[in-house]
Amino acid sequence: MPETAAFNPPERILMGPGPSGANPRVVRAMGAPLVGHLDPEFLKIMDSIRVMLRQVFRTQNEVSLATPGTGTSGMEAAVMNLVQPGDKVVAGVCGYFGDRIVQMAERAGGVVTRVNAPWGSPVDAGDIEKAVKATGNVKLVTVVHAETSTGVRQPIEPISKIAHDNGALLLVDCVTSLGGVPVEIDAWGADAAYSGTQKCLSAPPGVAPVTISPRAWDAIRAREVPSNTWYLDLQLLESYWDSRRAYHHTAPISMIYALHEALALVLEEGLENRWARHEKHGRALQGGLEAMGLALHADAAYRLPVLTTVRIPEGVNDMEVRGALLKRHGIEVGGGLGDLRGKVWRVGLMGESSTPGNVLLFLSALGRILREQGFKADIRGAQREAATQLS
Ligand SMILES: *Cc1c(COP(=O)(O)O)cnc(C)c1O
Repeated sequence: MPETAAFNPPERILMGPGPSGANPRVVRAMGAPLVGHLDPEFLKIMDSIRVMLRQVFRTQNEVSLATPGTGTSGMEAAVMNLVQPGDKVVAGVCGYFGDRIVQMAERAGGVVTRVNAPWGSPVDAGDIEKAVKATGNVKLVTVVHAETSTGVRQPIEPISKIAHDNGALLLVDCVTSLGGVPVEIDAWGADAAYSGTQKCLSAPPGVAPVTISPRAWDAIRAREVPSNTWYLDLQLLESYWDSRRAYHHTAPISMIYALHEALALVLEEGLENRWARHEKHGRALQGGLEAMGLALHADAAYRLPVLTTVRIPEGVNDMEVRGALLKRHGIEVGGGLGDLRGKVWRVGLMGESSTPGNVLLFLSALGRILREQGFKADIRGAQREAATQLS
């Protein structure tokens, strides 16, 4: 008999840019008995997910479903279905994920105008307006609500107004914001949005919530050529998610259970309570880091509470610090992406991971490791500041 290697993943404190810690109820839901993807009981779960997605996205959009795959599958579904060859797209880019949208829009044959902002600031609405006007006949404007590479929150309303005043649709990436900071699809007038399960919804990575406005749906149905993604063709997906129940793919049953439970948990906590929890813990962490003597990277007025970018001090070794956090304390944080590689740490407080205990543990663990690295971290000051904000 071959020897089988038992796999015992360690218990980690997931404080990176995702995945966040999963709620135990979500993990238990994944262990529920499998049923078929057309089983009447399973169809009920899908219907209930549609209802809950509308509540969590704050929308009346009929087309609200989950694509199979991580957050990027939601991005690909939205971009590939909305952009036809030759369509003009204006894309706001102030980080890694804004750039990923550009790459997809170009692959879809879109003619993309990038509107850049420094990594650490949001995209300027005036710059978007200039680009939309100069381009003319723009089909789609894209932005990232919570840029996980920089920790910046993008104000959506001014950009939504510009898009609509100029006859364009607005696509918003809500992967890191949904369930953590206010997302208001209908109040914003966003036409398409997507998220993931593994950030503030606190389920394992695996499916992506997507919502499409009636206007965007009309645009998708009016396409002259079918989208060049078959698997993520939203019209085919919708024919499975709506009452037609046409087989398209075998739904990832256990992940759909997980999403169902995760959404139920969000609604049980209450969206406003959940936003307030993330806000409080994020601000306590940020206050603590500054009191320790560290500098935060994102513009103060646009800092996300769910993802904090902190500058790595001069003379401190990025890999050694992250290695020690993981090895000694079981804490995972993220390194910098793209332009910020080696320059910042990305500390997430998303969903289940957003707790007072994690804030305090992280500050003391990081402070001690930084002292070993020769940085004079004010650990007491950091803890005092965070504890005050947490109380
Ligand atoms: C994480 C993330 C994605 C991609 O999600 P995956 O689950 O990694 O595929 C897209 N956009 C933003 C803003 C993200 O934070």
